[in-house]
Amino acid sequence: MTTPSSLPSENGLPSAAQPTPSLRRGACPSLATPMQTGDGLLVRLRPARPSLAPADYIAIARLAADHGNGLLEVTARGNLQLRGLKDDTVQPLAAGLADAGIDFHRGVAVETPALSGLDPDEAADATPLAAAIRQTIAGPLSRLRLAPKLSIVVDGGGRLSLADMVGDIRLDAVRRGGDLFWRLSVGGDVRSARPVAAVADRDALAALATVLRALDGTGPAARGRDLDAGALRGALGTIAVDADFPVLPAFPPSPVGRHVVGTRSVLGIGLPYGATDAATLEGLMRGLASLGATGIRLSPHRALLILGLSAARMDAAAALAGEAGFWTRADAPGNAIAVCAGAAGCASGTFDTKAVADQLVLRAPDLLDGAMTVHVSGCAKGCAHPAPAVLALCGRADGIGMVFDGRSGDRELATLSAEEIGRTMERLAALVRERRLKGETVRQAIERLGAGAIADIVRQGRQ
Ligand code: SF4
Repeated sequence: MTTPSSLPSENGLPSAAQPTPSLRRGACPSLATPMQTGDGLLVRLRPARPSLAPADYIAIARLAADHGNGLLEVTARGNLQLRGLKDDTVQPLAAGLADAGIDFHRGVAVETPALSGLDPDEAADATPLAAAIRQTIAGPLSRLRLAPKLSIVVDGGGRLSLADMVGDIRLDAVRRGGDLFWRLSVGGDVRSARPVAAVADRDALAALATVLRALDGTGPAARGRDLDAGALRGALGTIAVDADFPVLPAFPPSPVGRHVVGTRSVLGIGLPYGATDAATLEGLMRGLASLGATGIRLSPHRALLILGLSAARMDAAAALAGEAGFWTRADAPGNAIAVCAGAAGCASGTFDTKAVADQLVLRAPDLLDGAMTVHVSGCAKGCAHPAPAVLALCGRADGIGMVFDGRSGDRELATLSAEEIGRTMERLAALVRERRLKGETVRQAIERLGAGAIADIVRQGRQ
């Protein structure tokens, strides 16, 4: 029987217990199960409140410096990560966060758009359904065996929708007349997920429970991709709406930049390569508070959304963020590079990933037109971009492997030294400039030129 003392606290830690470092590749690092990395323990946090105040971020920054190595990250899915913790500092961190009144979601990741509840263009505020899903999973469905990395995307739409976020289960809000429906699909983003059915708003929770039971029945490691969409539709029975919702929403723009959301002005800023340090974050938050910022939301694509600024203060806030090293334009070339901590922050890293990313920005900005992501990974694990990338530069025992159209662990076309990277990327940018067809993006050009042309570039550089 569960005793009160073994129940999770508000921050997910069993009271008076040390956290258990998670060594399992598939587990999600939380305060209760931090993950061992090259620079100590890492925790990934999803704040329970949609907006935190600048003062909350200052508290988090100080706790990150006191109990970790002061490095903070916002992930591609919009979670906050604190790095460099130790076995005996996770509990004080959790206590400090609780003292500051900052609580976090636990359990299965239920993702909602960063502007949920604020955006008049959204089809629905996803927050109430997401809250009901979390309660149901923690309550009536708590005995289900669900994969630790399972994710549920509840997308109400709007300017910064989650159309491009991959989820095991997706619920996409659709309006028909005045009525709200949710389009249920499994295993992908809004385009790639396999559609199951549409359900009325009142039936969305029941439909989701049907999918979760199907996952449980498939096995404890089952993911959305393992499910049979046709069988699921049959299991939904009469709650499946017999109507087609064929129009899929477009992918959202970058969160970085200025957004007009109803009567609000929202400033999106990107963390340089997804990371900052405690002192920089604290300084930024103090400055933003003095300019009138009242709330900050974490956003997918490694960004923060600043709320409460008047239109007249947007320039000053953007200048402040820019001076602190944050990216304030959607077309900042660095946005097109996915970079992990690398050798500077992770024992598994074989080279300085951020220095290589800086080389790319400096010497081959033409490659970074936003149509593709260049993946720079300190080792074959590929933490920053688990999916395939058109171009990836990945740590190897004997240098930096250049992978074409693959994951960081895939076979490389060539292995380069750190000194060769800048020159090679310059030559690739020149080739793309010369051979690119009218209207082609860099990605399309590189895909058309193919692996052979890239390997030739490396060979020619060595002659
Ligand atoms: S991919 Fe990067 S962060 Fe992940 S283990 Fe390798 S070096 Fe470390």
